[in-house]
Amino acid sequence: MQQINEKDKLALQRRQMVQMQLITRGISDQSVLAVMGEIPREKFISALLQSQAYDDNPLPIGDGQTISQPYIVALMTEELRVNKKCDILEIGTGSGYQTAILAKLGRQVYTIERLESQSLNAQLILKELNITNVDFQVGDGTCGWSDGKEFDRIIITAAAPYMPEPLAKQLKVGGFAVIPIGAEFAQELMLIEKKADGFKSKAICGCRFVKLIGKFGYTEKDDGKRI
Ligand code: SAH
Repeated sequence: MQQINEKDKLALQRRQMVQMQLITRGISDQSVLAVMGEIPREKFISALLQSQAYDDNPLPIGDGQTISQPYIVALMTEELRVNKKCDILEIGTGSGYQTAILAKLGRQVYTIERLESQSLNAQLILKELNITNVDFQVGDGTCGWSDGKEFDRIIITAAAPYMPEPLAKQLKVGGFAVIPIGAEFAQELMLIEKKADGFKSKAICGCRFVKLIGKFGYTEKDDGKRI
């Protein structure tokens, strides 16, 4: 009985999150709103933080990493313009929450995480949720997907000093990428479109992500300067 009440409470909080944090702030893509109203965010965070699952902020997921604020997940997803034909590359699997949302909206998600423990945990949760259209890799996502495949959409969920070149290469012409670009403690969320004659980029809003650490990102210990 206790458990049923807890589940109902979380479902209510999820509906409230969609209404108060997403719709009132201007998220209007119905497919994004539907999926955010469906995926149980509480499954992606530790038992100790369950009561905060739908809070309007990021939450710690271990290893010094965070699951993004629901609004930022919705905004990035909406800006990415995902449809059922899209093959999506995600850098920074983390908890797997954003991965799950992309998997519901796209054809196939290819996700790379540098920390094995985070990737394994995300793989377990997605399996439990019966989400099967996701391929996982552990490694440095700034170097791109290992077989050189090209993607319709690319999403980077960690702060980058610039768009990593291998990722720019793996984006198909006509494709879109969403990436936070900037210094360690403040970035600009950018939408990048790859056109036949080059890249077009647009700033969406200010944001703050954990660092993208890799060959075409930041070093683990630096102060936010380019490597
Ligand atoms: N989208 C995630 C947010 C994760 S935070 C979620 O919904 O939970 C960013 C993640 O990017 C962290 O797990 C971090 O380990 C990972 N990361 C940082 N640099 C990376 C890199 N070069 N390649 C792959 N993952 C990276």
